[in-house]
Amino acid sequence: MIDLRDLDGVDHNALVAIGAGAVLGAGDSLASPLPTLHSLTMPAVVAPGDVVRVHPTGQVNVLYRRGANANTLFATERCNSRCLMCSQPPREEDDSWRIGEMIDLLQLIDRDLPVLGITGGEPCLLGEGLAKVLRAAKQFLPNTVLHILTNGRLFADRAFVRLFDQSAGQVVWAVPVYADNATDHDYVVQADGAFDETVNGLHNLAERGHRIEVRCVLHRQTTYRLQELAEYLYRNLPFAEHVAFMGLEPMGYARSNRDVLWIDPLEYANTLSQVSAYLWRRGMAVSIYNIPLCLLPDQARPFARQSISDWKNVFAPECQSCTLRGACCGFFRSAGDGWRSKGIQAIESKAIA
Ligand code: SF4
Repeated sequence: MIDLRDLDGVDHNALVAIGAGAVLGAGDSLASPLPTLHSLTMPAVVAPGDVVRVHPTGQVNVLYRRGANANTLFATERCNSRCLMCSQPPREEDDSWRIGEMIDLLQLIDRDLPVLGITGGEPCLLGEGLAKVLRAAKQFLPNTVLHILTNGRLFADRAFVRLFDQSAGQVVWAVPVYADNATDHDYVVQADGAFDETVNGLHNLAERGHRIEVRCVLHRQTTYRLQELAEYLYRNLPFAEHVAFMGLEPMGYARSNRDVLWIDPLEYANTLSQVSAYLWRRGMAVSIYNIPLCLLPDQARPFARQSISDWKNVFAPECQSCTLRGACCGFFRSAGDGWRSKGIQAIESKAIA
């Protein structure tokens, strides 16, 4: 897509010749052989290099944003778990049309994109369809790492894992483990037997040479055994290349389950700091996502990342005078007063590391 909103006298046939797919125009009067996007309600949302879906109604969905800090393909709304804090509650309807759309989209994305996410729902429910998408990614974006969020349960079946042999090395499978025991994990994901399936799945993936990230969303049901979880990860999943501890996104089921989930991060910040250092000292890469720097002890701040997608990210009034604002993840736009920590305060002059 090429932006003609501030340009006059451009030869549209020349644009066709260089492979432009569509143009952004200022009004509806352009006589162009190319599809023209115009009269956008939020003009800043679309820019050259982006990929958009245009509905017959005129509604525009941006599927890929050049220069965004995160781009993600949405694989399916279906899921085989019902996590207490799911930010994208699943819907059981056949959306397998997304397989074709993802394959089309992969051909339009910038070839030098370092990382592309794939999420859902549970992407593995696409089965062979997901393998097809990954084959297309290998063809069109061979240098892009695919970061796939999955509960890993279907990988308990070794034959299923073999469907993805061709993607070993290009994909990082990001799989949540919420506890060091089946009872707690299965409660969080609201699915009996899920812990055994996920752990077996992680071992099967590792056996086939796949890259693995382990994730844990931090809330009242997962933080009370954080030390035991860290010990479990180190002893049982040492092949994980990255462990991510993640603050909660107050969306979807997380909002309706607030009372069982909410815990002020101040209450677990010291333990989080200790377990992060524990894993890091043992050679595992560790990140802390979605927890503002002022809520973390000094020693934990080097693990904190600016993890919130730019379009979901806001800052509090306190942040205006904070010296760490440039390195802080801030807050989810969806976090209202009910999710506000008592510890938010501007930091005057401390370094991160
Ligand atoms: S005051 Fe704002 S910018 Fe500073 S550390 Fe806290 S949340 Fe981050």
